[in-house]
Amino acid sequence: MHTPLPHHPSTPARTLSGQVAIVTGASRGIGRAIALALAEAGAQVVVNYRRSRAEARQVVERCEALGVRALAVAADVSNPGEVKALAQAARTLGTVSILVNNAGVAATGLLLETPLDTWREVIDTHLTGAFLCCRAVLPGMIRQGYGRIVNISSVWGMVGAANEVAYSAAKGGVIAFTKALAKEVARAGVTVNAVAPGAVATDMLSSLQPDEQEAIAAETPVGRIGRPEDVAHAVLYLVSPGSSFVTGQVLSPNGGWVT
Ligand code: NAP
Repeated sequence: MHTPLPHHPSTPARTLSGQVAIVTGASRGIGRAIALALAEAGAQVVVNYRRSRAEARQVVERCEALGVRALAVAADVSNPGEVKALAQAARTLGTVSILVNNAGVAATGLLLETPLDTWREVIDTHLTGAFLCCRAVLPGMIRQGYGRIVNISSVWGMVGAANEVAYSAAKGGVIAFTKALAKEVARAGVTVNAVAPGAVATDMLSSLQPDEQEAIAAETPVGRIGRPEDVAHAVLYLVSPGSSFVTGQVLSPNGGWVT
């Protein structure tokens, strides 16, 4: 008989003790789960957010309760000056060795009905955000000869979605960005990978009606929508010191929905 495994089968070893991580868009959803997983593994965490100050503070408190230092830092990842300040704040904890580019916005609508401003916001947040944040932390990673960068893409960046052309283009761009940068910095001991989740239950997915979410769950071989922790688990693997031979890859926690 099938015995369900507990959600967290064991307490993870503190394999990231002493490391400093930035997680962008960590006030809610997937970023929040990633920040908590990194803290649980012993990393000090910079919890970036754009507007949700109270939520970001709560994530910091949860990290601190796990025995690590944490900071909430407001910054729009598409703004060069704010990203510079974010990196400076992070350096008060030490050299950043883990960067998770997770901040994101969704946009739905037919291409012919997509305003230029929406296109720009989506590309700027996902793609320019990753560009600016990588540029801000890479010099420190290269100097120390070690770094782990994970860029959150999406299954739509792999296969494309009608009605989400801007989002799909941004997420596909994130994958190409990941592959190219991985080649550029591999010899410096820095790995760069992408995680491309399927549908995950967060505020972002709440634009879908319950019946639409049920339809996705039914289409998904494991029979459910993803949890933020499913994505955090994949990120934790990629940022582990032992993952030094994994770079330029796309890992897609999607329950078998897209293969
Ligand atoms: P979410 O619940 O809507 O949270 C988005 C997060 O990004 C929030 O913390 C938000 O900050 C932050 N953010 C948005 N724009 C920002 C900016 N310009 N600068 C800094 N932070 C910004 O979304 P989610 O579902 O957790 O998504 C996280 C990532 O996973 C995104 O890249 C998304 O595209 C990707 N993804 C999600 C799904 C899914 O089904 N949920 C599937 C595949 C990929 P505030 O709270 O301050 O607004």
